Amino acid sequence: MSPWRLLVIGVLWIGVAAAFWHVVQNREQHPLSRTRLLLGTVVEITIYDERPQRFADSVDAAFQEMARIESLTSFHQPQSDVTRLSSTTGTFAAAPEVLEILKQGLKISRASDGAFDMTLGRLKALWGFGSPHPRRPAPEDIREALQGSGSEALSIEQGRVLKHTNARIDLGGIAKGYIIDRAAALLQRAGVRCAAINAGGDLRLIGRRAVPWRIAIRHPRHSDALLATLVLAEPLAVVTSGDYERFFEQGGVRYHHLFDPATGMPANRCRSVTVVSPEAALADALATAVFVMGPDAGLALLERYSRTGGLVVDAAGVVHVSRGLRSQVVWP
Ligand code: ADP
Ligand code: MG
Repeated sequence: MSPWRLLVIGVLWIGVAAAFWHVVQNREQHPLSRTRLLLGTVVEITIYDERPQRFADSVDAAFQEMARIESLTSFHQPQSDVTRLSSTTGTFAAAPEVLEILKQGLKISRASDGAFDMTLGRLKALWGFGSPHPRRPAPEDIREALQGSGSEALSIEQGRVLKHTNARIDLGGIAKGYIIDRAAALLQRAGVRCAAINAGGDLRLIGRRAVPWRIAIRHPRHSDALLATLVLAEPLAVVTSGDYERFFEQGGVRYHHLFDPATGMPANRCRSVTVVSPEAALADALATAVFVMGPDAGLALLERYSRTGGLVVDAAGVVHVSRGLRSQVVWP
């Protein structure tokens, strides 16, 4: 090929690259960001696009979809599927979304040997998290609240939910993740190629950015300090369970809302667990399960899922990171 031709081709390629870079830069510089109070927290949707405003209606629709599924899965609303299932024994005709959450949750329960447990509703109510006056219950009340909970309480047969005991159902460890997955799916169907959904620090990413996604992880004991930053080339979900969000202190002891189903007490092996995985529902349930299991068994559990890893701060403050995630962690 003549040098002239090579030069022309070279210049053309530079032109194409520059145009691409311009589009990507534009996307980065003018994101559309909207927030809503949902799922007991502030939910923010950010759209990265050359003309993000064209997706404003889709963002509204995503918030509506989240509110709709939240009302099915709510622990407090008397008419939610979860409340009605809690007072049922026998078969229950759950909404497809609730059925799907229960299915996924039961899988994680089995995989975690019961550390993840959606049948601890009476225990949760007894401790009073979410009420103005949470308190440490008497041991006999804890024993009573655990009766009928665990792997025998719930099953799904031929697409129907079967409840075998009087356990109260609580999807608090998985529903938020599932709901942001559903919002992400809605945005993608609407044509959104690059976005982030942030539900109080639990994240679901869509698409690639010009630069990798940088996700800050909070220090579990210093609310204004960074523990680490995750640098992700892939759009993944990043979900954290910690003992610092919902807790109270009594007699100098910290009691938080993540229960060890074996004791009915707050799990005491971790301070925080961040799970990175393609889907937020899975990441959410796994973060809760790993929190209960502790760093060794917990990180071993994460190994069983593809493109999934975690960062665990144990009870002594020591940080453990999955092998596959180490190269993506930046320390402050
Ligand atoms: P958050 O929703 O605050 O981000 P998590 O996803 O870790 O935190 O979920 C905590 C919630 O999960 C608790 O408030 C409770 O409703 C529920 N939960 C507590 N212990 C367990 C457990 N062992 N298995 C499943 N769910 C649990
Ligand atoms: Mg969770």
